[in-house]
Amino acid sequence: RASPAPSTPSEKDLRSPICCILGHVDTGKTKLLDKIRQTNVQGGEAGGITQQIGATYFPIDAVKTKTKSMAQFEKQIFDVPGLLVIDTPGHESFSNLRSRGSSLCNIAILVIDIMHGLEQQTMESIRLLRDRKAPFVVALNKIDRLYDWEPTPNDAFRSTFQKQGRGVKQEFATRLEAIKVALAEQGLNSELYFENKNLAKYVSIVPTSAVTGEGIPDLLWLLLELTQKRMSKQLMYLSHVAATILEVKVVEGFGTTIDVILSNGYLREGDRIVLCGLNGPIVTTIRALLTPQPLRELRLKSEYVHNKEVKAALGVKVAANDLEKAVSGSRLLVVGPDDDEEEMMDDVMDDLTGLLDSVDTSGRGVVVQASTLGSLEALLDFLKDMKIPVMSIGLGPVYKRDVMKATAMLDKAKELAVMLCFDVKIDREAEHYAEEQGVKIFNADIIYHLFDAFTAYQEKLLEQRRKDFLHEAIFPCVLNTLQIINKRGPMIIGVDVIEGSVRVGTPICTVKIDPVTKEKVVLLLGRVVSLEINHTAHNEVKRGQTAAGVAMRLEDPSGQQPIWGRHVDEKDTLYSLITRRSIDTLKDPAFRDQVSKSDWLLLRKLKTVFAIE
Ligand code: GDP
Repeated sequence: RASPAPSTPSEKDLRSPICCILGHVDTGKTKLLDKIRQTNVQGGEAGGITQQIGATYFPIDAVKTKTKSMAQFEKQIFDVPGLLVIDTPGHESFSNLRSRGSSLCNIAILVIDIMHGLEQQTMESIRLLRDRKAPFVVALNKIDRLYDWEPTPNDAFRSTFQKQGRGVKQEFATRLEAIKVALAEQGLNSELYFENKNLAKYVSIVPTSAVTGEGIPDLLWLLLELTQKRMSKQLMYLSHVAATILEVKVVEGFGTTIDVILSNGYLREGDRIVLCGLNGPIVTTIRALLTPQPLRELRLKSEYVHNKEVKAALGVKVAANDLEKAVSGSRLLVVGPDDDEEEMMDDVMDDLTGLLDSVDTSGRGVVVQASTLGSLEALLDFLKDMKIPVMSIGLGPVYKRDVMKATAMLDKAKELAVMLCFDVKIDREAEHYAEEQGVKIFNADIIYHLFDAFTAYQEKLLEQRRKDFLHEAIFPCVLNTLQIINKRGPMIIGVDVIEGSVRVGTPICTVKIDPVTKEKVVLLLGRVVSLEINHTAHNEVKRGQTAAGVAMRLEDPSGQQPIWGRHVDEKDTLYSLITRRSIDTLKDPAFRDQVSKSDWLLLRKLKTVFAIE
């Protein structure tokens, strides 16, 4: 498997594009990969399809065989040597195939179930693809489930579609249209790939069935057509190394190894490499470059073949010392003869420290922990979109010291004393400590589950706060007395709401100037216990809501109520009792959304009335 020494890259010296597959659970990602891998030629690895580490390699001859049924529709001219398909479907591997925020995946397949349309993780995938500016095609999968579908296994879509009955064609058209509309709502123009005249603006849709293999030739053909037509620049063979760590794994006989996708250049045994580690940069030397033993040679002792040298694009297992703390999703750099190792160490740690830009510098926010750099980055992007502030980030398992960071929020904003953890282990002690302190830990391996759990928790806390502070959340109002209905036991006043709104529970007062000290004195008349308009009870009456006047009943359990006619009378303006504390309570997230702009303006006016700084 060793490759010849590098030659000068020429115009046609392209490398294989790398392809990832993602989409909602159960749309058929795994099944599609299986189907693509299966060869219709007899005899093991016919056509040279090879299993690599974390990926499957399709040499161009295998692609040609698999896309034969496309010949009647499209020209098949291939410039690239093959196609590298990443084996693990989903967000995780896509987001780990990254280099400084851009994607190393040259083309992605977004799978949508034609019977289900767009689902939660479809949206998440679209967001990811867009954030990373990754080109993609839509595989509209499970067409064999259309009612009355007559399968022709492994046929090109147009060929099998022609043979379908009218009902099938109609159902297909209706479902396709609905999905195109749903994609448009996500800001994506889309078109069946063979009707797509504008590849730059429209996403191509390929109808497929992972069960019958129909549409698979189309999918493969399109992946190659698109990559070589639209991105041959990115596929230019470069001698410098571009590689990302997909996974860190312990393998018997090799210790901790890293599974690497090499997207450009060469790796050689003995190369000195630099990578990002949990506790700082790792510098080590490649001890072995391993690829899987070909199927028919499995009777050989070792599971792996040792390679002196490997060439992009491929998936390879790297064995070396000191890989225990290597971070998945970070880059792997090779130290060349003229390179400054120190500089490369800083450079590679930027993958992690670069993410610190997403951290709120005011020290307010949640603590985020993820298993890999890619998922951490994806989660941070998501939280940014959702406007959830992040105070601190981390990688790997959650320990007590990570929880301690979150406890800092307990006093400032309890709803943010939260850890959002993506696919990580939580240490027992850390879990106990969090429970003791009142820090909530959420752990999930699907971003939107994490988000849903977090928002539900926040809403629950806010609801509790609304209950706890109801008495202190005083909305502003100004009232004029129309008539006094009952002077005492209980005091009932007919009022007109001049500004704001009066609510049941609001304390009502008037403000007088003390004749001796000339200071403002607040006289509390009592809390509103009921509001009636024409004998109908209301919880709240806004300015302008009625011309009839409101019968407002007040209660003052303190028994210190001023006497109507002596301390207070019809000429006095009445207000809700505003204090510094009541204003601050309204600013709390529990109430903030209920306070209108005119309420804030009125509050500002009332601050003068009540002489609040
Ligand atoms: P993943 O979660 O996206 O990887 O989905 P899977 O590949 O595990 O498929 C989920 C289920 O859908 C499995 O039961 C598959 O057999 C089934 N499935 C996948 N693709 C197709 C398809 O094209 N047609 C039909 N009828 N079933 C499919």
